[in-house]
Amino acid sequence: MTKAKYIFITGGVCSSLGKGVTVAALGTLLEGRGYTVSLQKMDPYINIDPGTMSPYQHGEVYVTEDGAETDLDLGYYERFTNSKLTRKNSITTGQIYFSVIERERKGDYLGRTVQVVPHITNEIRNRIYALENDNETDFIIVEIGGTVGDIESIPFLEAIRQMRYEHGSSQVIFIHLTLVPTIVVAGEAKTKPTQHSVKELLQLGIQPDVLVCRISTPLSKEMKSKISLFCNVKEDNVISAVDINSTIYEIPKMYKEEKLDEVVLKTLGMDQRKLNFSEWDKILKRISNSKKKVIIGVIGKYISLQDAYRSVYESLSHGGIANEVIVEFLKINPEELDKTNVKETLKSVNGILVPGGFGERGIEGKIVAIQHARVKEIPFFGICLGMQCAVIEFSRNAAGLKNANSTEFNQSTENPVISLIEEQMEIERMGGTMRLGSYPCIIKKNTLAYSEYKSEKINERHRHRFEFTLKYKETLERYGMVFSGSSPDEKLIEIIELPDHPWFVGVQYHPEFKSKPFSPHPLFAGFIRAASKYSR
Ligand code: GLN
Repeated sequence: MTKAKYIFITGGVCSSLGKGVTVAALGTLLEGRGYTVSLQKMDPYINIDPGTMSPYQHGEVYVTEDGAETDLDLGYYERFTNSKLTRKNSITTGQIYFSVIERERKGDYLGRTVQVVPHITNEIRNRIYALENDNETDFIIVEIGGTVGDIESIPFLEAIRQMRYEHGSSQVIFIHLTLVPTIVVAGEAKTKPTQHSVKELLQLGIQPDVLVCRISTPLSKEMKSKISLFCNVKEDNVISAVDINSTIYEIPKMYKEEKLDEVVLKTLGMDQRKLNFSEWDKILKRISNSKKKVIIGVIGKYISLQDAYRSVYESLSHGGIANEVIVEFLKINPEELDKTNVKETLKSVNGILVPGGFGERGIEGKIVAIQHARVKEIPFFGICLGMQCAVIEFSRNAAGLKNANSTEFNQSTENPVISLIEEQMEIERMGGTMRLGSYPCIIKKNTLAYSEYKSEKINERHRHRFEFTLKYKETLERYGMVFSGSSPDEKLIEIIELPDHPWFVGVQYHPEFKSKPFSPHPLFAGFIRAASKYSR
């Protein structure tokens, strides 16, 4: 029998209520009480993973150490807790059906009819249990994606209903996150959507133990008792999740004050160990002490979408925490940027960041912005595609390599300074064919990268197909580019920099997946430090 306690979090009424952050914040509070947690996301879509989905569909693709392309909620889990996440922490309907169908083809079901119950639900349960087999975890917190009432999530809800039935209420609990909207003209908060959402859950055999109600101002005592009565949930277990307008790092504190962790521990009959919140208090203090503003121009195709560069924005704000400055973003669509307007468009920024991306759209605008950063000595940080664009810009405009480009954008360019990773040349299938996950990188001493990392060997997460073309290294070095980091066999360039510039760094990997508010990534901390010193 399994020992861990299972906490399942479902969402009701509508999406975007902050379920991922709630899961992460609960993890923070339980860890703060000395417990170990593991967090898992169940996504009800049929894709195997979000790797092939457009950012418009899905937001950012978050990459784990072991190279899984996952939901961006895993980013919150890692930023808020110490839990180590792998591909086992991100499950989709696609993965579940894929393995059941594979087994069916192998004949593993011995002639039986393969059905949603029990075969699909068993597979879901096995994926949840699989987390516990790896490490002795006190709590496994599982977020069920989507909104209760959706057709897609029914097998997941059925699986967790079975788990509650089998393991009982002292081992399995349900938290339901809902919305209590305020009708502006009436000035009244309404509990009816919450009641209806709980009814939907009850139809599926799930009685929530805790209700977390997203609301603009805290629930009144009367509202709590009304919700309690209509939804069969103890009054103490009806929690307000008040809108936070400042930083999302206030959310664990908000839930601490609302006693979410206390209620969870009590419901599961666990010890109320003393909560150590000092690290988070320190961060919040640094944030509220920050007065100086630093504006970072983020140049990306998907800037209209909040979530497309989620980890980049978070990491930049960690850089702000490290330097006690407020980081603000000027989001710029590279398709609207050219030589005639770059100076005017970027006149307010203290630093320029070009994040990762795929495809040709917007590339020339990014190159114009990078040239502006290089020539005007504005701190610049290029990530993955941003680093590749920095190489292209330098090759064309500083090293005189005519029409230098990446073969991703021009197959027949005279100077393919960025090209396909050789061993991947023959791979045609999309999805899961990239260089993914954590790889080591060796850093040269006496470089900016070394002075930021203070280490000769680092590990960073990757998600790319294209690489710097090694035969151009000497030429670019001659013109002043420094290749400060590479794979241990020196075949793959990982970091470039320009020494005659206040702060100009490009990295082939994604440092934004490893930054946390309480341990800001050294490159983001360094970039914001340089940006805060830059004055126009
Ligand atoms: N499109 C580029 C490549 O595949 C960069 C990828 C990225 O920025 N994540 O190499």
